[in-house]
Amino acid sequence: MTDDTDGDSEEHSDEAARPTPALTASDASATATPRIGVCYFPEHWPRERWETDVEQMAEAGIEVVRMAEFSWGRLEPERGAFDFEWLDTAVSLLGDAGIDVVLCTPTATPPKWLIDEYPEILQEEPDGTTREFGSRRHYCFNSPVYREESKRVARRMAEHYADVDAVVGWQTDNEYGCHHTVRCYCDDCAAAFREWCRDRYESVDDLNETWGTTFWSQQYGSFAALQPPRHTAAEHHPSRLLDYARFANASVVDYNEMQADVLREANDEWFVTHNFMGHFDTLDAFSVSESLDFATWDSYPTGFAQDRNTESVTEDRLRAGDPDQVSLNHDLYRGPAGFWVMEQQPGDVNWPPRCPQPGEGAMRLWAHQAVAHGANVVSYFRWRRCRQGQEQYHAGLRKHDGSPDRGYEDATRAATEFESLGDLDGVDAPVALTFSYDDLWALAEQPHAPDFDYWGLVGAFYRALRARGVQVDVVEAATDLDGYEAVVAPTLHLADESLAARLESYVDDGGHLLLGPRSGYKLPGNRLQSDLAPGPLASLVGGHVDQHESLPESVDTTLTYRGDAYDYRTWAEWLRPETADAVGEYTSGTAGGRPAVLDHVVGDGSVTYCGVWPESDLADALVTDLLDRGGVAYSDRLPETVRAAERDGHTWVLNFGGDPIEVDAPDDAEWQVGDASIPGYGVGVVGAAVTELSVQ
Ligand SMILES: [Zn+2]
Repeated sequence: MTDDTDGDSEEHSDEAARPTPALTASDASATATPRIGVCYFPEHWPRERWETDVEQMAEAGIEVVRMAEFSWGRLEPERGAFDFEWLDTAVSLLGDAGIDVVLCTPTATPPKWLIDEYPEILQEEPDGTTREFGSRRHYCFNSPVYREESKRVARRMAEHYADVDAVVGWQTDNEYGCHHTVRCYCDDCAAAFREWCRDRYESVDDLNETWGTTFWSQQYGSFAALQPPRHTAAEHHPSRLLDYARFANASVVDYNEMQADVLREANDEWFVTHNFMGHFDTLDAFSVSESLDFATWDSYPTGFAQDRNTESVTEDRLRAGDPDQVSLNHDLYRGPAGFWVMEQQPGDVNWPPRCPQPGEGAMRLWAHQAVAHGANVVSYFRWRRCRQGQEQYHAGLRKHDGSPDRGYEDATRAATEFESLGDLDGVDAPVALTFSYDDLWALAEQPHAPDFDYWGLVGAFYRALRARGVQVDVVEAATDLDGYEAVVAPTLHLADESLAARLESYVDDGGHLLLGPRSGYKLPGNRLQSDLAPGPLASLVGGHVDQHESLPESVDTTLTYRGDAYDYRTWAEWLRPETADAVGEYTSGTAGGRPAVLDHVVGDGSVTYCGVWPESDLADALVTDLLDRGGVAYSDRLPETVRAAERDGHTWVLNFGGDPIEVDAPDDAEWQVGDASIPGYGVGVVGAAVTELSVQ
């Protein structure tokens, strides 16, 4: 089993660098003209329609088509009786039209005959309930028989298409973990978890020590005694939960690598990718991407604004989504070879609580935003609204009668505009923001406040950077940070000496670090450090955390930072400066008068430690001070519905609001798309890198 997490205890810290994964920092060498694509299901429509579909795709400027991710039942109606003829025909029609085809392994939907033959493939929930056949993603990543079956079908497809020029690459499976399916609790998973722990720990005593199982008599006498954290009375042990999260993730990493190897064996010129999801909690995209050439993800802005956001949903967000929520995922999934949006929302969708029509032009706006953040392909999901099954209420670029829908017009316009922009290099970001799935998992188990959500805390800092038009790489803290003028670490909750040493070296050499709350509290095994927080980061921060508290919205939460008054929320730490200067002080509650923010000069650089979850004005003040110290240029603070992004000497101004805006750009700015008057849900592109932007 793959164990790629970074250090599990004091004894197990692992400083070894990763191989070059698909999600390291951006690299300006990835040059491409952005293209428009679409996801197509020829199997849902009469064959006599396919030629017309392909003609209409070509007319729209669509250059990439993804197919077959749920087609196992159609490709192999019964064991061994493969029928490729229909897919061959569709691939050939697309190839003849000059359209690149991306095929998918169809493993997200094991067919009925396979489940009947091997019911043990099915997943189990923590209470032992089986996830039955009838939807999708109903398989266990650790089922030995399903691994063999997956390999068999992937190999058969790969060998069949190995010499077909139109097929340029593959997507493995579809949306690993969707519908809470990363973590399964079946007997196969129990056995695999024991093996994973045997590989990770020197002995069961080592596991007991790392977890801290003296608490509540939770000691294990052998690895064989370990079970998945199934349904129990109170909450489970946090260290066991964190390791189960890591184990379940490693199971997906391993499964994906198996598929990628099979595909590359058949044709090593193909790219291999996977379509991740937005603000997704249970899968470490960094580790899965190590066996991919680049990442892709599925972007549904009006749905995410409702079901993955703790903030109030304004009409603008219902119509166009939250720009920072979407672009945080763009920046997370962007790697040296860029990224793709494999599924772009095409119009109204079927799964959020409410399903509004997007704003006029929003489907074009989203494509431009993705490209501005480094996307090389934006592929809409789906070609045509489907007349059967679970997604009948999900729009396509065409309506279910075949006529063009609103997304078709937007996609066509975007395709023409991307063609006019020509080749673009990747995004060159001066600032890194750290992201850790281990921290996400550990904090999700012990949030200590109902509204303490890792994505929300990361978003508070990210939003402040994006409101100033600053390009951001979202990276693991273990990444080489040397090339960045400034680094924001919203929290480094689990920390060890090796992480501290890497950060000290970055700052000592002139780097500037802004570090958020709850940092250095715990060891990688998810138990408290022996020292007070921030534990191994204390010499970097220049002080310690004396107390912490979480507070509800109804309580006054204010402080001063460099003499100005600000609000914070949710979390507060009473800080004790030692070699650092206190530059923030609480002005409300029991915390009143105590230090809240510390500044520390370290070598040629600096560290600011912020002991609270900052509201937006404080986040802006902290971030602009950091940018000043790092010498990073930034714009006036943009309204929350307007964002600017720069890629390869082009600046996109994106209006996520329904009202028109006037952009004040330098007089010699040449508008390549639109002009300084940008309509609601519209976009303009200036042919220069522009930092001094303001908006009326
Ligand atoms: Zn399982």
